[in-house]
Amino acid sequence: MTELQKNVRVRFAPSPTGYLHIGGLRTALYNYLFARKNAGVFALRVEDTDQKRFVEGAVENLIEALEQMGLTWDEGVYPENFKFKISNFKLNKSVTYPGIVEIGELGPYVQSERLELYKKYAEQLVADGKAYYCFCEPVRLEQMREKQQQEKLPPMYDRYCLANLTAEEINQKLQAQCPAVIRLKVPKTETVEFQDLVRGQVSFNTDNLDDQVLFKSDGFPTYHLANVVDDHLMKITHVIRGEEWLPSTPKHILLYRAFGWETPTFAHIPLLLNADKSKLSKRQGDVAVEDYLKKGYLKEAVLNFVAMLGWNPGEGSVQEIFSLEELIAQFDLKKVHKAGAVFDLKKLDWLNSQYLKKMSVEDLYLAVKPFLEEKEFYQTWSSAHKIWSEAEKAEYLKKVLTIEQDRLANLAQVGAENEFFFKELAYDKSLLYWKEMNDEQLRESLQKSQAVLSQLNEQQWTQELIEQQLLAAAGNNRGDLLWPLRACLTGVQKSPSPFDCVWVLGKEESLKRIEVALGKF
Ligand code: GLU
Repeated sequence: MTELQKNVRVRFAPSPTGYLHIGGLRTALYNYLFARKNAGVFALRVEDTDQKRFVEGAVENLIEALEQMGLTWDEGVYPENFKFKISNFKLNKSVTYPGIVEIGELGPYVQSERLELYKKYAEQLVADGKAYYCFCEPVRLEQMREKQQQEKLPPMYDRYCLANLTAEEINQKLQAQCPAVIRLKVPKTETVEFQDLVRGQVSFNTDNLDDQVLFKSDGFPTYHLANVVDDHLMKITHVIRGEEWLPSTPKHILLYRAFGWETPTFAHIPLLLNADKSKLSKRQGDVAVEDYLKKGYLKEAVLNFVAMLGWNPGEGSVQEIFSLEELIAQFDLKKVHKAGAVFDLKKLDWLNSQYLKKMSVEDLYLAVKPFLEEKEFYQTWSSAHKIWSEAEKAEYLKKVLTIEQDRLANLAQVGAENEFFFKELAYDKSLLYWKEMNDEQLRESLQKSQAVLSQLNEQQWTQELIEQQLLAAAGNNRGDLLWPLRACLTGVQKSPSPFDCVWVLGKEESLKRIEVALGKF
């Protein structure tokens, strides 16, 4: 057991791009688990400084998806009607996003609401000689880059403005409102080293680091500046984020140093990969969490799956099913793997089926209903059974679910392979014959089933009794009795057992279907 840490404060800081990415969910989950395990604080901050990428409704979607997945947080942004409890209740409406509220002492938690602050910190760095104004126009930067490319040099700002402008010239340009950016003066030939909780000792040489832009001419900070200023002001102790941010970390550390601030501890969690080991991409499948929910995966299964992308409890543990509580108890950043995590959909299917198996029929029914209601076969069935009460319909559906539950891979699949429970049948008479059976034998077989089922009353209509009675009547030639029965009830080659089908369909419908089969002679 690793020791618990005191005063842990972590954050999930997504940039709203339209939806919650499955990788984002994992980052959020690892932060959540680490915070809960250490009785720390988990904050949610919106990093929306890239105005070019603004997507209407993206912030709202993202936050709601997190809530829908059952994660909770203690500080930051919330949907207006968030459902979970938090202790601090002083709530501010977000200035930028209608429908979003902010809670916490260290806000605002939306970066576009903190622009003045970033400006102040960027100017402070300029005043301290750690950063400088750059007025280079795009054309010049482009030419510089082309030249560097030709000479096979890494693309880097050549410090023209730092080397050539006097304080007076800078002031004049600022007064004249010439477009300017603020760049960090990256100290050369230094080594930036840090201890990453996942990757171990990491070191970067600053020679290859560009004088990155901290503050843009449009009045917005870059990701680097805003991220560092916020993590510092929000007292973040551990930055847990995707490995794709690892190259940014030395820049961030240089910024912490320039400000004279303490650096948080970093943990970069492994990339998500497709089966062919390429980086997980939209082109190869769904990446939005909501797509998985729409496909009928349970949120518990998705969380469980995502937790295992890059982590397992280790030490010979074979446990694969984890509730959120179990994850909190067992999660350890030190056990997160360095190697990329392959996104294996078969594993998700397996996990989902395990969770589906464990559900009560009642819960399964509630989960399945919205999916069924979308299906045409169900709508037709439902309107054909107008005289059934809602309770009767529910009872019927729960029977179907009892039969299907063990073989179900996802919620959307319900009924799909057994549409005969909901449909008038259309099949060819030839389906009814078992082996070499002739017409006479087939008629006798169906009549026998008819007789057995007619004798059973309401109370006797149980799976056990139905099976017992039919098997007794079949004697040694089971196929002779059971094949034609199953075929006339389902109209297909493959289906659940005739006993299960009889039980679900009920006495009246089963007898009616036998009658229809007899009518085919
Ligand atoms: N806004 C960044 C993102 O979208 C956050 C990276 C970080 O956690 O520092 O992933």
